[in-house]
Amino acid sequence: MRTRVAAATDIGHVREQNEDRYLVAEPVVAVADGMGGHLGGEVAAQLAVETLERLTERREGSLADRVREANRAVWERSRADPAVSGMGTTLTAAELGEGRARIVHVGDSRAYRLRDGELLRLTEDHTVVHRMVLEGQLTEAQAEVHPYRNILTRVLGVEPTVEVDEVEVDLRPGDRLLLCSDGLTGMLPERRIAEVLAEEADPRAAADRLVAEANAAGGVDNITVVVVDVLEDGGRSAAAGDPPATRVSSATVVEAGPATARPSRARGPDRLLPPGALRRTAVRLGVALAVVVIALIGLRLYLDAQWYVGVSDGRVAVFRGVPAEIAGFQLHRVVVETEIPAARAQALALYRDLDEGITANDRAEAEAIVEQIRADLAREGG
Ligand code: MG
Repeated sequence: MRTRVAAATDIGHVREQNEDRYLVAEPVVAVADGMGGHLGGEVAAQLAVETLERLTERREGSLADRVREANRAVWERSRADPAVSGMGTTLTAAELGEGRARIVHVGDSRAYRLRDGELLRLTEDHTVVHRMVLEGQLTEAQAEVHPYRNILTRVLGVEPTVEVDEVEVDLRPGDRLLLCSDGLTGMLPERRIAEVLAEEADPRAAADRLVAEANAAGGVDNITVVVVDVLEDGGRSAAAGDPPATRVSSATVVEAGPATARPSRARGPDRLLPPGALRRTAVRLGVALAVVVIALIGLRLYLDAQWYVGVSDGRVAVFRGVPAEIAGFQLHRVVVETEIPAARAQALALYRDLDEGITANDRAEAEAIVEQIRADLAREGG
């Protein structure tokens, strides 16, 4: 299968360093988006694509085996070097075969196939928000702007082993494959990505324009794209004779070269995502936090529907919630205070357990109970 490949990466407008890496080592192409502290993100992404490149050259194992080996390499470096402890990276790799591509994927970089103008997403984001979309808790549109959209549930290099997704997709002449980091998909809607890919016939022009448009839309993250065109059999192969890596403005562009891109390595303050040493913890905290937030919203809705009459500061009062507390948090609040001394009410057998709360179906019923207490006391005091 003849292909033509172009890739571009750019630091974007906000980040101080480019922690994205790509690999063009046909038949394998890949995108890695590193994360973790001053050095960690770059080291993790670089190490992942280098490991993949080395094993591809040696034709060792399947693509999934090589990605798992890359995981191991990043994890071992992370353990051995405190400066990059906890680093990790996404890795989305494609191995091009005859009439097909095999995709192996961890994280929130993505692979797409463009066929007849239709963009098909081939990978699932390993993110908290995608999980919530699958569970019906969020729509795709809500997920795109959700504050936890960057929190990953699966990352390469943070555990000794990693579960990888594997997908096989068929390819025919005219198809176009796109691998990209979230710096593209976070900035451009898929509709726009499809339009650019359909409009720009040349893969290099397409890659450059995607990067330029992501920057124009804000460029809040590093942006990396690899575009693979499937050519007619007998078409000119771009593998030989093309110029090696060429710098075009701030983007590095490679056409079908064996080179691993090594984009600029400006150093600076940490990125916006959780720092690398904390990344693993952040992933878990993110999941736990999302669960807690949902539970709290449910609890709040439940409590708001509960009413009872009880004792506040020695006086009868109407409460919203339930007469209990969890870990020091009161699950109720006073809505109506009265002047009625609780002790007087509790002297009546009917209201002896007022301390524990007399439940009501709604506010009106709770207030009716208060009026009943008042009436009973008036009668008693007579
Ligand atoms: Mg990114």
